[in-house]
Amino acid sequence: MTGISEQQALTRALIDTGYWIDTGVPGVYGRTGRFEAITTGFDRLVEQMAAEDGAEIRRFPPVMPTSVLIEAEYMQSFPELCGCVHSFEGDEDGHARLLASISAGEDWSRQLTGAALALTPAACYPLYPTLRGTLPQGGRLVSLSSFIFRHEPSDDPARLQSFQMRENVRIGPADEVAQWRELWMSRGVELLERLGLPVTLEVANDPFFGRGGRMLRANQRADRSKFEICLPVVAEQPTALASFNYHRDKFSRTFDIRCADGEHAHTACIGFGLERVAIALLHTHGLDCASWPREVRTGLGI
Ligand code: AMP
Ligand code: ZN
Repeated sequence: MTGISEQQALTRALIDTGYWIDTGVPGVYGRTGRFEAITTGFDRLVEQMAAEDGAEIRRFPPVMPTSVLIEAEYMQSFPELCGCVHSFEGDEDGHARLLASISAGEDWSRQLTGAALALTPAACYPLYPTLRGTLPQGGRLVSLSSFIFRHEPSDDPARLQSFQMRENVRIGPADEVAQWRELWMSRGVELLERLGLPVTLEVANDPFFGRGGRMLRANQRADRSKFEICLPVVAEQPTALASFNYHRDKFSRTFDIRCADGEHAHTACIGFGLERVAIALLHTHGLDCASWPREVRTGLGI
């Protein structure tokens, strides 16, 4: 079987065995209670570990100010992944033209305006502007989750356009932040291995756009500022179940976040893709989660 048809077969199997609901759009699926039990079970494990470390819990909506993404230079790096919200703001004549275009089957998107809101492209982005100012001694630790949008339609069931991400974010002095990311890399591997997933930790890079992005991709690898925990599922490349990003002072300079001593803070975030973890579990242990190893089911509370 080719990679593509295996991907389509797994997507179909997830729908046929009652985990996903087809919407007709690649990468956009409804979830059943059976699937939610797995993602929420795993999410709870990560959130609990963060809470034991004293993390503050935050939750932002799946939309955020586009201005924040612009400030964070998201459009320089990932323009093709971004989705913005446009709405109808016209008058009655405009409304008549809109309806005429819709019934003629024309492209009516240009009759919508405003892009003040973007769909959240990573759980941590809405957090940084709220941290502007001086951090308490030792910095902060925040755990947050969100529905994420990325415009990357694909047949791969593990490459969704709309998916859930649990992130823990550490903001504070450089050495503490770097150590915290290291700690979570080993915790992440341990956690996924305990669930029976034979994962590996790899140096990684973000998919920076275009020719200019090639250099950024190489630099990110050379700096070892992104790691991923990977497992082969049905893509040509192993699938990243979790990412561990060290931003140094990139976000704290943009949003002026300072440590108690007045220096710019460093930030790192670690993110788990909840659907990817669930799919990895279903692919590894089989599509009947009632027959999974007892310790896996107990760990997830399913
Ligand atoms: P990133 O911000 O790209 O490092 O993504 C964080 C985590 O989200 C990754 O490690 C994946 O587990 C998950 N993820 C990223 N992109 C997707 C996608 N298109 N579909 C599902 N999960 C994703
Ligand atoms: Zn992040």
